[in-house]
Amino acid sequence: SPRWLLQCRHGFGSDLAAELADWSAGTGVAGWSRVDNAQGRVDFHSADGECLPLPPAFTFARQAWPVSAACTDLPERDRVGALLDALHDYLPLHLSAVWMEHPDTNEGKALGRFCRKFRPHLERGLRARGVRLDVPRAARLMLWFSDSSQVVAGLLPAGHGRPWPMGIPRLRLPRSAPSRSALKLEEALLTLMAPGERDQWLRPGMSAVDLGAAPGGWTWVLRQAGLHVHAVDNGPLAESLAADRAVRHHRQDGFRFRPPQPVDWLVCDMVEKPHRVARLMSEWLEDGICRRALFNLKLPMKQRWQCVAECRDLMEAGPTPLAWRAAQLYHDREEITVLACPG
Ligand code: SAM
Repeated sequence: SPRWLLQCRHGFGSDLAAELADWSAGTGVAGWSRVDNAQGRVDFHSADGECLPLPPAFTFARQAWPVSAACTDLPERDRVGALLDALHDYLPLHLSAVWMEHPDTNEGKALGRFCRKFRPHLERGLRARGVRLDVPRAARLMLWFSDSSQVVAGLLPAGHGRPWPMGIPRLRLPRSAPSRSALKLEEALLTLMAPGERDQWLRPGMSAVDLGAAPGGWTWVLRQAGLHVHAVDNGPLAESLAADRAVRHHRQDGFRFRPPQPVDWLVCDMVEKPHRVARLMSEWLEDGICRRALFNLKLPMKQRWQCVAECRDLMEAGPTPLAWRAAQLYHDREEITVLACPG
């Protein structure tokens, strides 16, 4: 397909487009973006109309997929028929699922209700045309609704993209968690690591430092995974953590603190200048004080992508090559979350 549809947090379309422009320059795949900031959507078109590769994981994209067909005028009386006609040449015999995506905004909520009503009709229509649904490892049909008569459709092979409709993880905040930030770390662990990596890299008995830990949502998540935690913050920790013997609270400046022994993990949620945080993370990784670092970069500025790229370059420029994985998570507002480790 010569076109991708990419979904992002609304208001972050220009940042995603800037990231795409950088990717384009780096790979030599020429293309241009159409940005809809209000919807949280970017359409990336290849410049020469040639087929694009499958989209990689872009930092600012919640979903990204190749477009097969676009319908601008679904007739109210037979939306399913018109949509399936448009998709006729692309429909495979098997699908793992149909995802109906729409803007994640207040206006998008009504569209969400429409999609829920539309789904059984569409699935019946697909079956009537010989498509088997719920086939594991088959491609997923992606549909983006701008409104009830305009749909963009595409197919995403199994294993690609974030594993949740709309890129929104359904995570419940347990009552014992000290803050909602716990969800952010949970989502980061699910997004930035493959299941095998999670099993290997996060094991009971491992150790972590949590910079900017209070009130303790991230420390709580690490404790759930069985890690020992040095929690660094001048502010107070939730009582349950303060009483936990596997948590040591250090009332210190996170930029100066160093643990008595090297640790497996450094996590950091301090509200600070992104370059300053990136430099600190590099120091720890370069000096072998931690094996892996997971941190937030707060992005209150205008040129967010530029700032992210500078931080990445800064971390990759050191003597030890560092692998960098970054995502603006659903739980990230004006920020992104990064996992870095020696590559
Ligand atoms: N991740 C925490 C959680 O899950 O509960 C929330 C962290 S909150 C967004 C940011 C914290 O960073 C604040 O508690 C603040 O006191 C702390 N902080 C900011 N600058 C710091 C510094 N230089 N050293 C230590 N802590 C710092």
